[in-house]
Amino acid sequence: MRGLCLSVLIVIVGPMFAGKTTELIRRVERHVIAGRRAVVFKPSIDSRYDASKVAAHNGLRFGAVVVPPSEEGVEAIGKMGVEYDVVAVDEIQFFPVQLAEVLNSLANGRVVIAAGLNLDFRGEPFETTARVMAYADRVISLTAVCKVCGRPATRTQRLVNGVPAPRDSPRILVGGGDSYEARCRRHFVNPL
Ligand SMILES: [Zn+2]
Repeated sequence: MRGLCLSVLIVIVGPMFAGKTTELIRRVERHVIAGRRAVVFKPSIDSRYDASKVAAHNGLRFGAVVVPPSEEGVEAIGKMGVEYDVVAVDEIQFFPVQLAEVLNSLANGRVVIAAGLNLDFRGEPFETTARVMAYADRVISLTAVCKVCGRPATRTQRLVNGVPAPRDSPRILVGGGDSYEARCRRHFVNPL
């Protein structure tokens, strides 16, 4: 099982509702079935459904190690990750950019699978996702379905009371009454 030493960094990117976590879990599970040692990390900021599991919108579950989205968290991923054949990290956009170098290093001798948002609600790149994409051997770009027209959506619109959230609102919101929609390029409204 451990004879073959794979070395690859795969990153799954896209807007919300594109199935990124589902795709990450699907890929990890294939390795687990083959008897390979796998670990899934996720940032503690994301408390959807279950704080100790990676949550997917379709209800799939997978055991996960929750780490803070800080330099300490990135360090923990690097230290723990070396003990596994397969290292997965969900919601990478929440981690500091140093995550990119740690994942790039772990990928020497391991399968590393990362997933995260491409763009924030302003339509601007998340730096960590962009950096991981640059190092990746393979980029899997997933789309959602545009809430307005039904075409493939690549962007995430944040709405407050039905209108686009103002540009100066915080980049990352935990909880709160805001809602999100996947939008295509044509229907994404640049926040004012
Ligand atoms: Zn559209």
